[in-house]
Amino acid sequence: MEMHQPKPEIQDSRPSNSSESLHSQGTVSIIGAGVMGRGIAAACVRAGISVRISDSNFAAAKEAVAQIVTACDSRASQYPRFVDPAARPLISLATDDEEIADADLIIEAVPEDFALKTAILARIEPHLRSGTIMASNSSSLSIAQLSAALQAPGRFCGMHFCHPVIERPLVEVIHTDLTSRETLRQVCAFATSLRMIPAVMRDSPGFLLNRLLVPYLNETLELLLDGADIEEIDRAATAFGMPQGPLALFDEFGLDVAIAVGRSLYRAFPERIVPSELLIAMYKSGRLGRKSGGGFYQTQCDASAGRLDPHIMDLIRERRRGENSLSENAITRRLFLPFLLEATRTLQESLVACPLVVDAVLRSGLGMSGSGSGIFAWANSIGARTLVQWLQPLHALGNRFEPTSLLLDAARKNRSFSGTDRNAA
Ligand code: NAD
Repeated sequence: MEMHQPKPEIQDSRPSNSSESLHSQGTVSIIGAGVMGRGIAAACVRAGISVRISDSNFAAAKEAVAQIVTACDSRASQYPRFVDPAARPLISLATDDEEIADADLIIEAVPEDFALKTAILARIEPHLRSGTIMASNSSSLSIAQLSAALQAPGRFCGMHFCHPVIERPLVEVIHTDLTSRETLRQVCAFATSLRMIPAVMRDSPGFLLNRLLVPYLNETLELLLDGADIEEIDRAATAFGMPQGPLALFDEFGLDVAIAVGRSLYRAFPERIVPSELLIAMYKSGRLGRKSGGGFYQTQCDASAGRLDPHIMDLIRERRRGENSLSENAITRRLFLPFLLEATRTLQESLVACPLVVDAVLRSGLGMSGSGSGIFAWANSIGARTLVQWLQPLHALGNRFEPTSLLLDAARKNRSFSGTDRNAA
């Protein structure tokens, strides 16, 4: 993976104004006015970029426009960092395919359904003017397979924004073998004009962020079924440097998105991804997270207090394998060792250039901070030899705890993941 701006401290390398951007004079259309479509539209308006939004549910699109207009007018908005009444006219509705297509960049943000996304992309493409780029905000679908529906796959790529868009300055820009250099250049310029950091990488399952998140989120569910206490899981995650506990993160993403991403990673890596019965049960009960008015937690207040409602506790209890009480250290290892192992695999596969880039992506895309200001920063502070020892008793839980060759090599040489000699330190 190539960071468009190669400095590891990517937070600091963002330009402070958007006037030099290629797309600052251009227009953007967003298809899908849900959680992500609204966030991307708000980020465009914040950056002074004109944006149209559409949705098959007209009321949802109207509500999105109204919400952003209100945000422009009110400091007490849910987008506290962009408040500029002058930005109001930058957001409008697109009501038909011609209006949607009349833009420099079209971003598709409809639900994570391959057939739905390909049908929309193929429907819009004939209306595009030459040079317009299309991008998908898919979390997990193959960008190459989506592009097979298009006549001009060179003008298509993935733009994986992170939730909440307005708070997370990372965009994973996903290219296929057919995506043109010019498309990547323009999309990166657009991301930069949003005051975001484009991380360019090739198409691969879960891209980078979700590939690392899924083992961590899955392990949370396994821990719950093994009897771990929710408050302790949340405490271990936040003490590590995650901005919130993992169950609150599930609710933010939406359980439908979590299931779609999990499924796609399970297909790619069945030997180590554990499909969760609990997640399916939650989905079937209609608890999709904040977008459906409640997921693991009913309200944000419940999330802060680690208070699950009785119905969710029943779903967990019915599936519990034991009532083991686990220490915070034991929980931290269960949560973050699979995360680290997956990160080492992305290095082994050259999906990412170096550990510093992985950590920078985790800070800007996930908001990881504090002592865990990156999974490799944490691993280096512990040391590969100790990490291998920590993994030994966990092997019995499954392949997901098998050390990778990169970790074993670092342990044998007693080196950090950035290649420095630990004896010399
Ligand atoms: P969402 O369910 O909140 O919103 C999707 C919107 O698309 C809805 O308003 C729906 O009415 C609309 N829609 C459905 N069919 C449509 C059609 N045919 N034409 C136009 N609009 C249509 O979903 P979301 O969470 O915003 O996710 C959208 C995409 O973004 C998915 O691909 C998801 O994987 C991806 N994504 C989600 C997150 C996240 O945290 N939620 C993060 C990154 C990427």
